[in-house]
Amino acid sequence: MNAKNLNILLWVAVTFWLVMMLNSLTAPDQIEPRSLSYSQFLQELSDGAVKEVTIQDETIKGLRTDGSRFETYNPGDPGLVGDLLNNSVTIRAKPPEQPSVFMQVVAAWLPFIVLAGIWIWFMRRNSGGGGAGGIFNFGKSRARQHAEGEVKVTLRDVAGVEEAKEEVAELVDFLRSPQKFSNLGGRIPRGVLMVGPPGTGKTLLARAIAGEAKVPFFSISGSDFVEMFVGVGASRVRDLFEQAKKSAPCIIFIDEIDAVGRKRGAGLGGGHDEREQTLNQLLVEMDGFQGNEGIIVIAATNRADVLDPALLRPGRFDRQVVVGLPDLAGRAAILEVHMRKVPIANDVDARTIARGTPGFSGADLANLVNEAALFAARAGHSDVNMEMFEKAKDKIMMGAERRSIVMSESEKKLTAYHEAGHAIVGRLVPEHDPVHKVSIIPRGRALGVTLFLPERDRYSMSKRQLESQISSLFGGRLAEEMIFGPEQVTTGASNDIERATDIARNMVTRFGLSDGMGPLAYAEDEGEVFLGRSVTQQRQVSPETAQAIDKEVRTIIDRNYQRSKRLLNENMERLHTMAGALLKYETITKEQIDDIMADRRMREPDDHTGGSTPTTGGGTGTAQDGTAPKQPPLPAGGL
Ligand code: ADP
Ligand code: MG
Ligand code: ZN
Repeated sequence: MNAKNLNILLWVAVTFWLVMMLNSLTAPDQIEPRSLSYSQFLQELSDGAVKEVTIQDETIKGLRTDGSRFETYNPGDPGLVGDLLNNSVTIRAKPPEQPSVFMQVVAAWLPFIVLAGIWIWFMRRNSGGGGAGGIFNFGKSRARQHAEGEVKVTLRDVAGVEEAKEEVAELVDFLRSPQKFSNLGGRIPRGVLMVGPPGTGKTLLARAIAGEAKVPFFSISGSDFVEMFVGVGASRVRDLFEQAKKSAPCIIFIDEIDAVGRKRGAGLGGGHDEREQTLNQLLVEMDGFQGNEGIIVIAATNRADVLDPALLRPGRFDRQVVVGLPDLAGRAAILEVHMRKVPIANDVDARTIARGTPGFSGADLANLVNEAALFAARAGHSDVNMEMFEKAKDKIMMGAERRSIVMSESEKKLTAYHEAGHAIVGRLVPEHDPVHKVSIIPRGRALGVTLFLPERDRYSMSKRQLESQISSLFGGRLAEEMIFGPEQVTTGASNDIERATDIARNMVTRFGLSDGMGPLAYAEDEGEVFLGRSVTQQRQVSPETAQAIDKEVRTIIDRNYQRSKRLLNENMERLHTMAGALLKYETITKEQIDDIMADRRMREPDDHTGGSTPTTGGGTGTAQDGTAPKQPPLPAGGL
């Protein structure tokens, strides 16, 4: 008997019982007797009008000689029986009324029945909705099951990650027709791990699989396993796999698996026990089913490096699909996907935009299209043109303009020299990304911005490129100092200095790019993200080594600081010209900077699009080197 039937039965029983109760309370006697007071009764008795009485407890029912009935209440008169006998009245006595056996049972069990009813009601309510969360379903998996046709995303909506798409499509294929594969003796992987930076479309890809697969799809996020109570995560894992087994073939998707899958034995203090139990349970479950059962577990993370090695063992997540940042062609394809949703003007070319947005992830590009549409709406246009995309790009790369900030003339002048310093050094050092735009309109927290854009997608950086970056970072601060004197230098360069120091330190401790320290790693790889591990297992360096590292960092910084200084000294005229142009126009572009550097008369900025056409050149690198230092097109400026 399932819970539903039980419930119905219960309600029938309760209703039945209620009716019985009401009945027994109000059931009328055959003929309604008239109620008498006791004294009236005694009077009638002595008058000889009473023929017969029935005494039950304190109730006296009687029949008169004239055939009418009456009823009265006996206050406990001890002389009553004597009086009755004296008046030769027939006396019947009944034992006190007992409730029926049925009623006794019902009365005894009623509280339990009601409680059970409430309990069943809660259970049904909580297990029903699927993940709505409730007080009785700690151990439930919380996975959401997607019915066929419920998810509208398809593989067409995912662009620019072709390799990942192919791998994933193969899995979907398998689940649809397992025979095709098993006939050939192929064993399908049990677990597939999607790895890639945030916003590259891992979750989107999983949803697309759900949309494409004609099999049940369970999706859950790693953090759903983590709960305040010990043991809950493990039981959720168990429950999830139980559900999945019932509906195999099917797909289980665990998003952000690093929330549970981190290396074990590395946490600090309490709390990690629970996570370990959950992870252990996950490992057990993944071992517990055979590849041919038709369950495929897909997980996604952007931190594959922190995952427990046991998870990546063969038979578990042994297949990894890299979902990387899109290349030029990929970006264009992603832009086209998102442009389908907005009215686009004829002058818009996805490939041109893609060329100007190296390092953008799929999510960034989606955001770009959205921002452009918002700009167009604000401007009252009926479609989104290239100018809007250009504005959106600037906003995303450099931060929103803050024209409300009022800078004093001297602040403006200082900012202009600072940014011009960045731009000039950036133009002159070898292999530096070309400067794309310089602006002294405050954006975000910066008073000015110098934007460099790589000409092509870049997956690694050379020592020379890194050093050039350090030089251009110092350009801003140095320009301030040269023009206004060491006393006038502002705090605005702190971010530049910090970033230059970071680059230099990483060159020494991580990239093995220093002269003195050799190709050794002296630093934990981003260990600070996982504090527990870092503290307990940090790679220790001796004090002497630490000193040597500092010295080496110092050397790199000094070398580039001096180079920057020399370049600015040699180009003092151009520095003045560029700062002047910035004060006049607020924003200057690549072409105008070209003019200044060639000592030509600077062309006027033609308003709007022309002045800011994206950098030319470009290419499609396809190599994917996940270990390359991430180099998003960050503004080097920002006073
Ligand atoms: P993550 O890899 O961090 O899980 P998401 O899948 O959540 O990234 O991506 C966020 C959003 O960015 C998506 O909803 C989609 O609009 C957009 N996006 C990301 N990657 C792509 C892509 N390859 N193709 C199309 N849109 C994408
Ligand atoms: Mg995601
Ligand atoms: Zn700066």
